[in-house]
This record gives sequence, structure tokens and C-alpha cells, in this order.
Amino acid sequence: MVAGPKKLHIKTFGCQMNVYDSERMAEALGPLGYAPTKHMAEADLVILNTCHIREKAAEKVYSELGRVREMKEMRRQYGLATKVAVAGCVAQAEGAAMIARAAVVDLVVGPQSYHRLPQLLAEMDVAKGGILATDFPAEDKFAHLPERPLTRAQPSAFVTVQEGCDKFCTFCVVPYTRGAEFSRPVAAILAEVARLAEAGSREITLLGQNVNAYHGQGPDGRVWSLAKLLRRLAQVPEIERLRYTTSHPRDMDDELIQLHGDEPKLMPYLHLPFQSGSDRILAAMNRKHTAQAYTGLIGRIRAARPDIALSTDIIVGFPGETDADFEATLRLVREVGFAQAFSFKYSARPGTPAADLPGQVEAAVAGGRLQSLQSLIEESTRAFDAGLVGRSLPVLIERKGRKPGQVTGRSPYQQPVHTDGSDRLIGQIVEVDIVAAGQKSLTGVIKSGFEWREPIQAAV
Ligand code: SF4
Repeated sequence: MVAGPKKLHIKTFGCQMNVYDSERMAEALGPLGYAPTKHMAEADLVILNTCHIREKAAEKVYSELGRVREMKEMRRQYGLATKVAVAGCVAQAEGAAMIARAAVVDLVVGPQSYHRLPQLLAEMDVAKGGILATDFPAEDKFAHLPERPLTRAQPSAFVTVQEGCDKFCTFCVVPYTRGAEFSRPVAAILAEVARLAEAGSREITLLGQNVNAYHGQGPDGRVWSLAKLLRRLAQVPEIERLRYTTSHPRDMDDELIQLHGDEPKLMPYLHLPFQSGSDRILAAMNRKHTAQAYTGLIGRIRAARPDIALSTDIIVGFPGETDADFEATLRLVREVGFAQAFSFKYSARPGTPAADLPGQVEAAVAGGRLQSLQSLIEESTRAFDAGLVGRSLPVLIERKGRKPGQVTGRSPYQQPVHTDGSDRLIGQIVEVDIVAAGQKSLTGVIKSGFEWREPIQAAV
């Protein structure tokens, strides 16, 4: 093994917010000479950017750290040093316990402290043991991260606009690991989107744990809603598509619903978790809405944008869930007809109120319910996708396809679309005639007469 310039390997688990955080961490470390590598064995610095949502999240991180330890030892035999940092929600939740349990870890860094990475790395050089950086500092970390680079960006880029959550659903760790709701100021978001547009991005997805609760300070000194922010972003000429995720039903206000009806750049796709169709279970989850309020809301959204594709999150087997409660969930799925849905078996997160609730549902019962729910969701997804065959859709081409001569993009409804075409199309929106719907994607043919145009190049 030969030593070269410093290499950074970030392994990202979980949601799009972690994907975004990993990009920003890599950008913060670039000025220190760290270049990204896909191969952990090459890395002088390994960061595991962890997620606490899935079952046994912490145990999975500890077993990954076992593999990192072996790799660190192997590199040591070649005379190469390796620093190891754990970031993300598991780092925040485990804190000092992780340093005590996993000697391989040099740094445990919470999601609010990424801007301090350069300084923390310097501290690691002299520290005797692992360093802990899991405070919730009052300063705005985004203001201290470097500007987005002007190298060519992804056609579809993420921008975090909101972090944390004040809703305290009883099953969820986010309010504890990401802290209270915080919204970035509008001016900072506009500046970041302008950089991404200049670098070649055509679609922006605004991210937040509870994104439609956004309430950032506007340039006029007033508090701006998510709808107002989206309206402003729609004025950026290079940005042709806007999306946002993840939303809470309680925060879907009239202004945002209306925007789906009258802003063509806002894509007709909405991820809106409902979690359970039973009001009793929704109350135990502290979701602050009923099943009827949810379906009523869907009716208003569809009235504003009839073709909107709806996606959701559902938990089965929440403590106390009876067969009747589960039936109510199935009824709601049938009634709404989701284009996509993510369903999970409840599993207790230590420290959350639901972990101590009586009536934990037997694993076999919850497993059976999950199976029935997933077959229903599959039916619904297949029906939605099949309804698009024969139509022509604008597709933002994002990357080369798996097969030579093929490219892959996204429909307005968020499905991957495969089509034959040159990779010069990457970054452009092309009209595609949809000819088939597969398990998780659509296949199409670029409409004849489509003309390739020179992409806007960033000044690098
Ligand atoms: S609204 Fe979402 S992020 Fe907030 S507590 Fe509930 S599930 Fe967690």
C-alpha cells in the first residue's frame, strides 16, 4: 500500500438528510487536503454517518466498527494511520458510551457540530483518547460550513432548510438526536441554491425532518413559510423542478396546498406520513391528527393538484395495536391509493415514550400484518405506475444507465425512468414516451424530434 494525498471515506446510512450532511462534511474537509475515496482501505479518515431510525441501529454501528477496526489494524501494518469518526444520530444518542465501548473511535460528532470538523481533527492529533462533540451549539452550523463548490453539481441536489423536530411522536428519536426545530434564514438558502444552479443542478429538494414546519427569517425581517420560500426559489431561472420532504400533516397549510395547484415547478409528488389509520393508535403515537383529518387533507391537496402522486410512512405493530386498528390502516391505504409507501414493523427506541408502553405486539403478529400491508401497497404502486404507460412525461436525466447507451432519470412523480440515450443528456429534461412499468421503475423512449442542447457549464 502506498501513501498518497489524504483520503476520506464517508459511509452514509439512513435518510437524504444524512446524504446531504455527508456532502457538506466532505466539503468542510476538502480545504484540509482530504479527497473522497469509495474504498475504506485507502482512507486516512473514515466517517460513519449513522442513522437511528432502523431497528437495532446502535448494534449495527458497533458491528460496522468491528470491520473498521480490522481495516485500521491492517493499515497500521503498512505504517498507515487511520482516524475514525462516528457522526449522525447514533453518535448523538450514544455519546460518551460509544467512546467507552469502541476504542477504535477517535471522534463522536453530533449532527450540529459538523462545521467544527477541521478543528476537531486538529484536536484528534494531540488527544490521548476519543473526543466527544455532541453539544447542541447555539451558533448556526450552516453559516460556518464552506460555500458549495462550483464544480459541476448533481442534476438533482438536496438542500437542508430545516432541522430538528418539536412534534415528539412517541416512537421517534429525532427530537432527542436532532434537537428542537431550527430553520435556516432565507438568504442563506437562496445563496446555496444559486451556487447549485450555477454548478449545473436543475432540481432542488428541500430537506428537513419536519420540512413544512419551516419558519425561517426572510430578507424582509419577517418569518417566511415553506410555501413562500418555494415561491421565491421558483424564480431562479436555472432551477426547473422543486420538491420538499419530509412533511407532517399538521403543517400542510392552505398556502402550501395552493402552491401545488399553481406553481408548475413544484413537482406533483408529496411524501406525507400518516403512520396509522386508527385514531386510538394515532393518539398513543402523539401524532396530533386523526385518520379523518388526514384523508380530508388529501382531498384538499388533490383538489389543488389532481394528478399528485402521494407517498407515506406507516408503522404496524405499535404497542396496543389490535386487528381492528390494523384494519383501519388497510382501509386508509385503500382509500387514498398511494403511488408509493414505506412500511415498517414497530421496534422500540430506547429513551422514547413508546418503548415503555404496555401491549407490545408479538413479533409474529406484527410480521404478518406487515406482509399483508406490503402486498396492498404493491398493488397500489403497480396500479399507479401502470396508469402512466402510454403517456409522455418530462424526465430529468440524472445519470448513465446500467446498460451501455442507456440513461436514467426521474419522472415528475419520482419514479426512475430508463431510456436509451446519450449521456450528453444528463442534466436535461427530455420528453419520454412511457412504454412499460417494471417493479420499481418505468421504461420509455425519448420522444422523436427532441433536440439536444448544450448544457449550461459552471465557471469552475
Ligand atoms: S414529526 Fe417526524 S421527526 Fe418529528 S417526532 Fe414525529 S416522526 Fe419524528
